[in-house]
Amino acid sequence: MLEVRGVFKSFGQQEILKGIFMSVQKGELVFIIGPSGSGKSTLLRCCNRLEEPSTGEIWVDGIDILDRKVDINKVRQRIGMVFQSFNLYSHMTALQNVTLALRKVAGKSRKEADEIAHAMLNHVGLSARADFYPSQLSGGQQQRVAIARTLALDPKVVLFDEPTSALDPELVGGILNVMRMLREEGMTMVVVSHEMRFAREAADRVIFMADGKIVEEGPPEQIFGAPKQPRTQEFLSRLH
Ligand code: ADP
Ligand code: MG
Repeated sequence: MLEVRGVFKSFGQQEILKGIFMSVQKGELVFIIGPSGSGKSTLLRCCNRLEEPSTGEIWVDGIDILDRKVDINKVRQRIGMVFQSFNLYSHMTALQNVTLALRKVAGKSRKEADEIAHAMLNHVGLSARADFYPSQLSGGQQQRVAIARTLALDPKVVLFDEPTSALDPELVGGILNVMRMLREEGMTMVVVSHEMRFAREAADRVIFMADGKIVEEGPPEQIFGAPKQPRTQEFLSRLH
């Protein structure tokens, strides 16, 4: 479903991604962990062309998304992204935040967009909050609106960049539950997160990144239980 082949990315003189190869199967939940500054966000951002890789290829469901001829709106529809900071419009209600993308990016009519948006807000447990503004919602509810907005475009893959990092601890569980639900529905997901307990329980595969490279990857039992690389061992030991 998602294939990253030999992606390098530099900002100025600094090389941030140093040859990333990553293959994500349909319905797989892949977790990416690693120290701050290792290039996790840059990798996700390359995958929906918020950043352009310096070299390499990225394929999504058979389409080369770095091809100049590919419509960027189509790319963003196929690969949704959920950010730490929600990125909702504060002057729009939850419903309007969801319908905006449906109308602008997917070209839906107002009626159709409203129907899909209501269904998506219902799906993430927010049907009663459709007409609330972001300031009237908790952080967890705002993040669920952001997830509903992403799902509304019917993506093939959803990328999550630290979706719970900005939330109070008691609100984290609600977001993890939404991700569990998506996993059961067969959504393909790549998740950058520090929620190691969730990774152990829900991830099909864990990738450890450091210094712009994939150091080690494997099933969660292996990465957390018996990491092979010293760099992985050191990172995990510092978490306890
Ligand atoms: P992580 O998500 O693993 O913490 P990032 O991908 O955010 O890492 O950042 C990796 C490195 O790339 C950092 O050193 C960061 O300062 C740098 N970086 C990220 N985005 C930019 C940018 N737009 N311009 C310059 N440097 C950047
Ligand atoms: Mg990051």
